[in-house]
Parts: sequence; C-alpha cells; structure tokens
Amino acid sequence: MDFKNITVAGSGVLGSQIAFQTAFKGFHVTVYDINDDAIARAKDRIANLKPRYQEDLGATEQEVDTAYNRISFYSDLAKAVEDADLVIEAVPEVVQIKTDFYKKLRKVAPEKTVFATNSSTLLPSQFAEATGRPEKFLALHFANEIWVNNTAEIMKHQGTDPDVFNDLIEFAGAIGMVALPLQKEQPGYILNSLLVPLLEAAQLLLVKEVSDPATIDKTWMIATGSPKGPFAILDIVGITTAYNIAQGKAEATGNEKFKQLAELLKTKYIDKGKLGRETGEGFYTY
Ligand code: NAD
Repeated sequence: MDFKNITVAGSGVLGSQIAFQTAFKGFHVTVYDINDDAIARAKDRIANLKPRYQEDLGATEQEVDTAYNRISFYSDLAKAVEDADLVIEAVPEVVQIKTDFYKKLRKVAPEKTVFATNSSTLLPSQFAEATGRPEKFLALHFANEIWVNNTAEIMKHQGTDPDVFNDLIEFAGAIGMVALPLQKEQPGYILNSLLVPLLEAAQLLLVKEVSDPATIDKTWMIATGSPKGPFAILDIVGITTAYNIAQGKAEATGNEKFKQLAELLKTKYIDKGKLGRETGEGFYTY
C-alpha cells in the first residue's frame, strides 16, 4: 500500500471526521466540497473536532494543530484530486448525487487513484460502472465519531481487484481503524445486518406488550454479557430514526405491527420530545 495523498469528497458529518482522522495519522489530506460555503462549514466542523481529540484521546494541542494544517480545501474537483492515491467519497446518500459525482470524478482523477465509498445503505455495484474503474472501487464504511468508534468495514463488489481490497485493509489500519473485511456485498454490511434485526425484534416485543424495555434489555444483557440492550442502543440511534424506519416498513409491507410501532414511537416518545440520549430522555432518562 503506498497511499500518501488522500482526498475526502463531501465534508459533512462523516467526511469531516474521516479527513481529520486521516490527517491526524499523518497522511496528506485534501477536502473537496461543492462550493465556498460548504468549504467554510468544513473548516469549522474540522476545527471543532480538535477539542474532541484532546478530551477523548488525550491528544496535545500541537498534535491537533499539526493534523489540521495537513488538510487542504478545494471546491474545484480537478484540483482536489490532482495527485490523489485514494478518494474517499462521503457525499449525500442519494443515488443520483453519487452517480453524478463519480461520472465527474472519473474524468479528472489520475489513473492510479482508488475510489472508496462510505455509503451506509447503497452497494458499490450500483456505482461501479459510473466510476469507470470498477476494479479500483469498493466500500470503506466508517461509524459516526470515528476516533472512538473506530470500525472500518471494507467491502468488495464482484469486480474489485483483490490487491486494491488488501491495500484498503492496510490503509484502514494505518489510520487507526479496526479493519473489518467483507468478501461479498452485503446490504447493511456486518454491523447493520446484525443490529437492525435485533432492534426490530425488541421493538416488536414492546408493541405486542410481551414485556417492557428495561426487562427486554436486562434479558439480553445478562444472557449474552452485552453492556447495552436494544432499547439503550435505540436511545443512542435516536427515536426519530427508529420511527422513520418503522414508518417506512409499515408503508412498504402494510404490516399492522409496524404501523402500531410507528404510532407508539410517535405518541409516547416523539410528541413528548423524548428523542433519545440527545434530549436527555427516550426509553430511559439520562
Ligand atoms: P452530510 O449531509 O453531513 O454531508 C454531505 C456533504 O456532501 C456535505 O458537506 C455536502 O455539502 C456535500 N455534497 C453535497 N453534494 C455534493 C456533491 N455533488 N459533491 C460533493 N459533495 C457534495 O452527510 P453524512 O452524514 O456525512 O453522510 C455522507 C455519507 O456517509 C453518506 O453516504 C452516508 O450514508 C455515509 N455515512 C454516514 C454516517 C453518519 O452517521 N452520518 C455514518 C456512516 C456513513
């Protein structure tokens, strides 16, 4: 793996974290976003990460300043990828936006450049053709607050070159992530393939009035040795997200239980401002 210059495209919640973490680990980082306003927001977002690294990781002021100074910012894509070994794409989770982005990127990126998508729900095969270099394209999926939740799920599509896959595993380790390779495409990667069904099953037990959140969580925690149960996890994810998923599933399947779940989440929690950990109350009080 001889990646040195890393471009992060899209500098929102995740892009700004990926850029700062990568710079913190010594790589030259370039941030690309669509216009000067977006770049100004990116600078603020990344600067705001500095105290988090100091608090959570014990980093010194000099270390975080040095990391920040390793980052350049561009709203001109050609300039941003001029000498990129790797482009990590963290643009909005919208098929058309990502497709258009790759079509533009393929025209200006050097031949050597590997492209990786941080998409949470879309599969790399959906964009492989648009990239114009399917063999140098794959998914590199981070979790929010990557400096502490340091997982990197690395997922091939059918056409990914195995050497590129191995390079990305090495790169993930080099930026302080625990590399988690997926040999095949899987919607939701490993984490959400496990977590989504668990959270759904717990919520359906509640809808069916089988038991209450604390008892359901206690069962899971004691029996499996987990530090948190599904409802404590839902409080971190946020009740609004849980509601959107339940509502989407109710509409897609017409299943009465999901309709009841969406209704319960809305009336008992959302309407009362209990949106989870962020608001101090959800299934639990914090
Ligand atoms: P966000 O909305 O916070 O940021 C998106 C950024 O992309 C913004 O800075 C925006 O200006 C920029 N952008 C918009 N159109 C663009 C374009 N055409 N070209 C380049 N940049 C453009 O989104 P986010 O939450 O950071 O998510 C980005 C990606 O990361 C998504 O694919 C998402 O699924 C994935 N992801 C998000 C999380 C999370 O917890 N937020 C976790 C893992 C993965």
